[in-house]
Amino acid sequence: MRPEILFSLFAPVTTLKGVGPRVAPLLERVAGPKVRDVLWLKPHSVVRRTPAVLSAARDGEIMTFEVTVQDHQKPRVHTQPWRMQVADETGLMMLIFFGRFGEGLVQRHPVGARRIVSGKVDESKFGRQMVHPDYIVAPDKRDEIPELEAVYPATEGLPARSVRTFVLEALEKAPDMPEWQDRAWLDRERFPSWREALHALHHPEGEADLSPLSVHRRRLAYDELLAHQLAMAQRKAARRREPAARIGAGDLAGRLKAALPFAFTGAQERSLAEIRGDLGSGERMSRLVQGDVGSGKTVVAMCAMADVVDSGGQSALMAPTEILARQHYETISGPLQAHGVGVVLLTGRDKGAARAEKLRALASGHAKVAVGTHALFQDDVAFDSLRLVVIDEQHRFGVAERQRLQAKGEATHLIAMSATPIPRTLELTMYGDLDVSRIDEKPPGRTPVATRAVPMPRLDEIVGRLRDAVRGGAQAFWICPLVSESEVSDLAAAEMRAIALRKAIGPGVGLVHGRMTGAEKDAVMANFADNKLSVLVATTVVEVGVNVPNATIMVIEQAERFGLAQLHQLRGRVGRGRRESSCVLLYDPPLTEAAEQRLDILRRTDDGFAIAEKDLELRGGGDALGLRQSGLPDYVFADPFVHRDLIAAAGDDARLAIQRDPDLATPRGQALNVLSELFDWKAGLALRDAG
Ligand code: ADP
Ligand code: MG
Repeated sequence: MRPEILFSLFAPVTTLKGVGPRVAPLLERVAGPKVRDVLWLKPHSVVRRTPAVLSAARDGEIMTFEVTVQDHQKPRVHTQPWRMQVADETGLMMLIFFGRFGEGLVQRHPVGARRIVSGKVDESKFGRQMVHPDYIVAPDKRDEIPELEAVYPATEGLPARSVRTFVLEALEKAPDMPEWQDRAWLDRERFPSWREALHALHHPEGEADLSPLSVHRRRLAYDELLAHQLAMAQRKAARRREPAARIGAGDLAGRLKAALPFAFTGAQERSLAEIRGDLGSGERMSRLVQGDVGSGKTVVAMCAMADVVDSGGQSALMAPTEILARQHYETISGPLQAHGVGVVLLTGRDKGAARAEKLRALASGHAKVAVGTHALFQDDVAFDSLRLVVIDEQHRFGVAERQRLQAKGEATHLIAMSATPIPRTLELTMYGDLDVSRIDEKPPGRTPVATRAVPMPRLDEIVGRLRDAVRGGAQAFWICPLVSESEVSDLAAAEMRAIALRKAIGPGVGLVHGRMTGAEKDAVMANFADNKLSVLVATTVVEVGVNVPNATIMVIEQAERFGLAQLHQLRGRVGRGRRESSCVLLYDPPLTEAAEQRLDILRRTDDGFAIAEKDLELRGGGDALGLRQSGLPDYVFADPFVHRDLIAAAGDDARLAIQRDPDLATPRGQALNVLSELFDWKAGLALRDAG
């Protein structure tokens, strides 16, 4: 329940003075529906209304003058503005008013009156003028003109100055909050109180006060991060309170491992140990396993499934596409079946009697492992005792879908797998509610992919080499990005590329794109995987994780448009086998220095985590990595890059607070509860939380 102290902030913007039915929708567009949202607007600049004499006026600057009204020049026709001449001892200026001002101006500012005017100076060929001054006041009302004024985002029909008025009004309404931050931390960081921080936000005294590094902005960012971490820590704690089947490490996993033609890497061993720690704890596991494509996540998950088999339970492994599901099935069904474990593959293709047979095997518990696609969580799929759900490429599924599958068992454990390496600094903000294992070590014996950047004018040369390679039996991916506003024209570009390549190389060139149905895509991908196609042109939809060991060449057009993590993932699709592989990054010259640096990182390293960190560093804040889609929260004050030092602190702070005071009953706990409700992360979180 929302604490009473927040009621005024959660009231609609219409509760602000001057916000009626005309203004409300405009203000909502700029800020949001609530008073809180107006309070949270950030000024983007600050105006200093320098007092000066007219002879010192500078074109384009916002300045303030003390003048005497000399003359009113009425317009002769309506289209002309009203002009008001003012002067001081040093010069003249014309104030210009468009629209129907008329006699009111004469009454308010009669000839001979002293006035302070403030606004933007415009030195035009008609002389010095000021169009619609921001302020015209009598000298005794001088105080009404702020010397410094924060400038807010505006919209058509709602100028920045009106927005500022509403913001200051919202600030008036902001209550003094109980302090939710730890005293010692507050002192150490020299943070002002919440209200003081907001006051400083809206009364900047210079550019420095607009910086996200200013102390008040850091305080507000920390509040936001803390609220978010708190929400995630609470979810995690709640999940832990649900008892789940205690699953010990059995010996099937050991036998499976012994039969593999390779040994686990250290990182795989560590991840498996972490998973086993969770499975044996009696609490529900929600663990994310992160690692590059090909780092060996699936075999780790297989060992966890083997432990579940030994405990008498069932597991389900769900992948976003049929082809991926099939590949997982091929990876794990052999070893499992060799040890007498029933494995079922269930996709949208299964129909009729064959499907019914598979469903029976799962419902009876005869089959211990199910691998499949969305087909797995359909209503008529039932399990005898589902205890572990493994989701591959977890961001490709909605929470509801994942939950539908998990709901087929009781307090089922969850392993999510992702091939998108997330920098450490962002891990907490994206996955604070999960436990994370990193597989940051590649299986030995992989040949690194030779990577180089080539300018587009050398396209013919690249195509020529590709033709030679294809004649020698190689297979290649050719990626055309979706970049323009129009998907149609991008698609046309990809189609043109496919046609051109067919001309140069021969008929074995296929095309997949986002407009195709899943089945159509799968069919083309399958042809490529079966080596019936030599070149696969794709609009970035090459499914992450698809394994085509014979593919050794990756060409990426307009590589400069991609995030590094994306490029790295695309590149990860080659270099699967023993053969030398290469990756060509085609770009439109000239490259900016930054773009050149970014592409160069790819040439130098093959470690997805290192690449993600470096990319974040180079591109800085904002949505540098295109991660927002994959779950980076949309913060108001916090910037995961600029405030990265605060993220870890907020995470520790939140965990400790929840540990000591799970029900938030102490005075600080209650204050933290106000903070949580103020930021109200629940709604947003529910979209992606694993719980
Ligand atoms: P991911 O799921 O992370 O993409 P997989 O588990 O599918 O990776 O493994 C990719 C390939 O590497 C598979 O063919 C797998 O058998 C193999 N593999 C996995 N672990 C190792 C290892 N430690 N040594 C050698 N090969 C491995
Ligand atoms: Mg995989």
